[in-house]
Amino acid sequence: MSDFSEKPTPIKPRIIIHGGAGNITRDNLPADLWSTYRSSLLSILHDSTSKLSENGATALDIATYAVTQLENNPLFNASRGAVFTRAGTIELEASVMVSRGYRKRGVGVMGVTKVKHPILLAREMLMRGELEDGGGAQGHCQLTGDVCEELAEGWELEMVDPSYFWTRKRWEEHRRGLGKSWERGEYEDEKRRANGSGSLERSEEGLFDGLTNDPSWNGKDYLPQGTVGCVVLDSTGTLCVATSTGGITNKLPGRVGDTPTLGAGFWAEEWQVTSAAAAPAPSSPLIDVASFLTSCLPSLNAYLSVPQDTLSMPQPKRRAAAVSGTGNGDSFLRLAAARTASAIARFNHHTSFQTAVTAVAGPNGMLQQSAEDRWHQTGEGEGGMIGIELDAGAGKVVADFNCGGMFRAWVDDKGRENVRVFRDDF
Ligand code: ASP
Repeated sequence: MSDFSEKPTPIKPRIIIHGGAGNITRDNLPADLWSTYRSSLLSILHDSTSKLSENGATALDIATYAVTQLENNPLFNASRGAVFTRAGTIELEASVMVSRGYRKRGVGVMGVTKVKHPILLAREMLMRGELEDGGGAQGHCQLTGDVCEELAEGWELEMVDPSYFWTRKRWEEHRRGLGKSWERGEYEDEKRRANGSGSLERSEEGLFDGLTNDPSWNGKDYLPQGTVGCVVLDSTGTLCVATSTGGITNKLPGRVGDTPTLGAGFWAEEWQVTSAAAAPAPSSPLIDVASFLTSCLPSLNAYLSVPQDTLSMPQPKRRAAAVSGTGNGDSFLRLAAARTASAIARFNHHTSFQTAVTAVAGPNGMLQQSAEDRWHQTGEGEGGMIGIELDAGAGKVVADFNCGGMFRAWVDDKGRENVRVFRDDF
């Protein structure tokens, strides 16, 4: 007999963050630069973990808090320190998704140019989705451009001049990528040739005068993109993923990447598995057809359910997964990479989420395969993922990547803080 006074066992919260993946090698990541990344990632992880241990901390609050801290840090390609478009502008993107608890479940914002923390705009859009008109965002899950800034202002989020986001490091990457000099004189000459005036706009001054001591860039080495993300499991068993980026260096203005696109650069979902379905099958089918069909067409449940003696009925257990991707966003878009990883675990009960993430983002996985013979030529297919799986009441942190490295930090099963960029220690 069930004891109804029994409280459900609280779930042990889990957290993992990333700071981007790409062509990171021991040659282009000097030890002193790694130590700057290392201490930034550890301090953000530490701070967020202690907030997560507070009573009532939600996955949404902590994941978005961690991302605001990463956005504040110019080492990373999000908010201040974001990369430039070909046109020398900055267009930010961010997203949030929860495994349950909000009607919209997931939202993305893009083409953001004046909101200091794009991740907080995504968070507001998700939360205000509970209101009749979405707080002005209606029922929409993705928004771009001016309407984002208008909503952010109306919701009293912090707004900044676009020059706030600009750093010398990213400016140099942008100019070098276009085969142009990053020196002030040459830039002024170029402007004079283009429009007759070589004088800098107020917002451009900082590119040359500020941040000259930026420790993260020596003006020579190729550096990875530095998108940021965080996945959190809270004590109620809710998962949240939050991701923020400037996109890729010298993207076309108007380009939309995977970071604000549901299913491509981020995903979170939960589902029920009956113990019968989870029991080892004689021929281990890849897909449990009944659960696949009912997830697409919930009304089929009525037809598929067979009346049984309640006592002998297999008890469903909850399984959930959330994932944040980073790397070549166009490849993630083509594969709907984040949802694909989750779907592999969802529709094959015997596959762990780590195995699913490795199948998509690990060495020789789907992302790498999708680059065909262009692999390692253009950056196509390169990237990584972090995530958390909830299974049988326990959270498990997962990660994998197919490229040189991925900046990441997490708290392991024993409560220890870890930080890595390569597979092994630096
Ligand atoms: N995925 C991002 C984009 O393509 C970039 C990155 O993660 O480095 O916009």
